[in-house]
Amino acid sequence: MEEKSKGKALQEELAFTQPHIADERPELTEAAARFCEAYKTFLDAAKTEREAVEAALCLLNEAGYRPLRQEGEAYRAGDKIYYNNRGKALLCATLGRQPLDAGVRLMVAHIDSPRLDLKPNPLYEDSDLALLKTHYYGGIRKYQWGATPLSLHGVVYRKDGTRADIRIGEEPGDPVFCVTDLLPHLGAEQNKRTLADGLRGEELNLVVGSLPYAEKELKDRVKLRVLELLHEKYGITERDFTRAEIEAVPAVKAVDVGLDHSMIGAYGHDDRVCGYTALRAEMEMRDPEYTTVCVLADKEEVGSSGATGLVSDFVFHFLGHLADAQGANYKRMLQNAKCLSADVNAAFDPTFPDVSEKRNASYLNRGVVLTKYTGARGKNGTNDASAEMMSFVTGIFDAAGVLWQTGELGKVDFGGGGTVAQFVANRDIDVVDVGVPVLSMHSPFELVSKLDVYMIYQAFTAFAGAK
Ligand code: MN
Ligand code: MN
Repeated sequence: MEEKSKGKALQEELAFTQPHIADERPELTEAAARFCEAYKTFLDAAKTEREAVEAALCLLNEAGYRPLRQEGEAYRAGDKIYYNNRGKALLCATLGRQPLDAGVRLMVAHIDSPRLDLKPNPLYEDSDLALLKTHYYGGIRKYQWGATPLSLHGVVYRKDGTRADIRIGEEPGDPVFCVTDLLPHLGAEQNKRTLADGLRGEELNLVVGSLPYAEKELKDRVKLRVLELLHEKYGITERDFTRAEIEAVPAVKAVDVGLDHSMIGAYGHDDRVCGYTALRAEMEMRDPEYTTVCVLADKEEVGSSGATGLVSDFVFHFLGHLADAQGANYKRMLQNAKCLSADVNAAFDPTFPDVSEKRNASYLNRGVVLTKYTGARGKNGTNDASAEMMSFVTGIFDAAGVLWQTGELGKVDFGGGGTVAQFVANRDIDVVDVGVPVLSMHSPFELVSKLDVYMIYQAFTAFAGAK
């Protein structure tokens, strides 16, 4: 065998090259593919935050979790409890062997995704078509949402207070809905618009019907026919739309991408990819050293405000209840806590290399992305994880064989963004952002790699279970 030159040996010792997971851990490919089948099933069942809570509750009940009782019930190590926040956010925890003031291990992800919400008075008829007005939720590139099949999900409360659950466009034989766009032949004027303006907010109107009610002397007969169908199926009237949350989301199912089946294309990887994997890791905790808490939050895509978002106190009320039940010191519990703020990051896209700084971008198949800071314009509005926290987390990952990389959200001053990390950090808790690299983020069809999905699941497991 040829002997290494001194320089080559030195290079191997001192310099770092980011490996591909398939080279470093080839044995994981099969397990990752198996794990991702369950993830795809979850994605198809959980296209809104409400559905994600429902799907997660099914899993939690199977895993023996019981609801948190707020009047000071005592908990023992190994107990598994959950708290359902208004059906739109979820907390679950496994009590650790150490007392709560020794700290907890928090994993926070969000389960809301960008989409089109129906307006309070959505239904109208124009030129023999029935349409629904929408107001988009979160950051979308509006032009991506035209001429693509959309399904409707949500809840409506009738005047008497009873509830109807809506889910149309997901089952075989269901109709779907869509936003129309112009044909190229008539697109000359529209082509002069900027891309951001390609489809405008008030042009995101959903087509929902075209047949008239039979009585010719009536006005708005197509709209009436739609109302009649909605009433037959759900017992609702036009006024009930004001008591509703109905969301139009891509009707596409999660599907393998690539001849090698190495990726998954789907709506809503951001951030159910972290939500699902953190939940799985939390559920599989048996008798952890420290209490583990998994948070599936709502409202991240609109700044985390609201009772179900991370700006609200719901997570800290939950932690406070746990502390009370054990007679633990709540402040010390927070100070000793460690948190992974789990959210996706923009993967380097070879088709659009100019927006990323190659040395600090994240790449598909290179593992969990540690994002030290987000923010914009000189790290404004971010949690910038300390060197100590980076050392703590990478130490756990390295010891567990978790492959990780670092990531930034684009070049300096090119854009930026935020996560929930700052809202946790502001409570005196050490936090760092971790996530999965995503291509086409916030589009109706986002792309992740199966190996990365499996790797972050392993990362959560290692973090939650670490001594
Ligand atoms: Mn996100
Ligand atoms: Mn997002």
